[in-house]
Amino acid sequence: GTAQIGVTGLAVMGRNLARNFARNGFTVAVHNRTASRTDALVKEFGDEGTFVAAHTPEEFVAALERPRRLMIMVKAGDPTDAVIQEFAPLLEDGDVIIDGGNAHFEDTRRREKELRERGIHFVGAGISGGEEGALHGPSIMPGGSAESYASLGPMLERIAAKAEDGAPCVTHIGPDGAGHFVKMVHNGIEYADMQLIAEAYQLLRDVAGYSPARIADVFRSWNSGRLDSYLIEITAEVLSHVDAATGEPFVDVVLDRAEQKGTGRWTVQIALDLGVPVSGIAEAVFARSVSGHADLREASRHLAGPTAHRLGEDEAAAFSDRVEQALYASKIVAYTQGFHQISAGSERYDWDIDLGRVASIWRGGCIIRAAFLDRITSAYEARPGLPVLLSDKSFAEEIAAAQDDWRTVIATAVTQGVPTPAFAATLAYYDSLRAERLPAALTQGQRDYFGAHTYHRTDRDGTFHTLWGGEKNEVES
Ligand code: NDP
Repeated sequence: GTAQIGVTGLAVMGRNLARNFARNGFTVAVHNRTASRTDALVKEFGDEGTFVAAHTPEEFVAALERPRRLMIMVKAGDPTDAVIQEFAPLLEDGDVIIDGGNAHFEDTRRREKELRERGIHFVGAGISGGEEGALHGPSIMPGGSAESYASLGPMLERIAAKAEDGAPCVTHIGPDGAGHFVKMVHNGIEYADMQLIAEAYQLLRDVAGYSPARIADVFRSWNSGRLDSYLIEITAEVLSHVDAATGEPFVDVVLDRAEQKGTGRWTVQIALDLGVPVSGIAEAVFARSVSGHADLREASRHLAGPTAHRLGEDEAAAFSDRVEQALYASKIVAYTQGFHQISAGSERYDWDIDLGRVASIWRGGCIIRAAFLDRITSAYEARPGLPVLLSDKSFAEEIAAAQDDWRTVIATAVTQGVPTPAFAATLAYYDSLRAERLPAALTQGQRDYFGAHTYHRTDRDGTFHTLWGGEKNEVES
């Protein structure tokens, strides 16, 4: 065979990735379960590069140069296993299967192990950037063996997005499921980013009394500062869009029930398993869930709330600046939590993930791309063992400068009855980390009281229990 890469699964993502490879000068074998998609791709885009259309798995495998590189872009879950079972018997030692779908990292670990035992490299690669990213340059998070990356990496670097300094947005994340794990947390952070932006919008709407068009202008101005990011940019676009049918702001005619495909939920489930507090991400997932419970919301509309107090024009402008501070501070906390989760996953599974590198490959191509990510890279470069991102000197200073406004915004939200779960959760996390003493000591006392669960003391080593039922003597256990 002559093709340097093959792509099977030619729906939006696979088709665009195949075109991206071809446009970058690679010969690409293409295959899809339903052959008409394969022919349609070659018919429509054949002039963009060199494609080899394959109609059977055998033809597809035969079209590939060795060691073969075969990328699977099918529906995540059982279809991925089905396709692996179909192709693996046709492959040979040293061939590489890449799964670019949104697989759960535990599935990737299982698949990698099974295929490794059969002499085949399996690379679970997180790909972010949607349909457009796939065509013009996604952010790619490949896991798998270092050996497979040696042969695959240079090709991925060609098709990946380029950051502003020209660096490709791809790096070998770590062994087996590391890539899909990092992609999962990326999506969790994306949920948090979106929810924080949504809360900022709601405050500007309800407290400052701004129209969607005016809020769009506010976001546009924020986008030229430290919040410069893809999500802030598209927020301004969405808010300034007017519905053609009604002439109303688009955001007012869309049903307010947020949907989800599951990667945010996975992030929180895994965080719970790892014991990592990702409260900002969790609140973002729950906020979508609350929005979806139309029945509960309908039954609750009559419940009492505070009297609304609209701000005057000058007050509103000052409040809007405060919301920017709050958004930025909460964002730092959300990323802090996400990077803590990556660090915990890396430790648990022995992945040795370079956190600064992760931030740097998110600078382009992906949904959370932002100027801000450079700062995270610098923070980890300055101090690779940084225990918690927000303790980085420059982030800590920014939060110090923002904190009064951050608190005022959340206090205002509370007194005005505007729900800001992600703002509030990230501030609570910040204050919890800062606290000299947490009420966890009381929790330990309660646990010891009702369940003899024991406790440790601040003043000496050992495990203790108080005999609560009697004279309350303390015993060492
Ligand atoms: P879909 O997830 O809609 O999957 C459709 C493709 O899967 C078709 O090519 C279909 O073949 C194939 N397929 C489904 N079941 C089987 C099966 N049992 N055997 C063989 N082929 C099968 O496509 P997308 O392009 O949207 O996504 C592909 C992957 O990329 C998914 O894992 C998705 O989660 C992930 N992803 C998607 C993003 C997006 O923005 N859409 C972004 C990042 C990742 P057929 O034509 O024969 O039905």
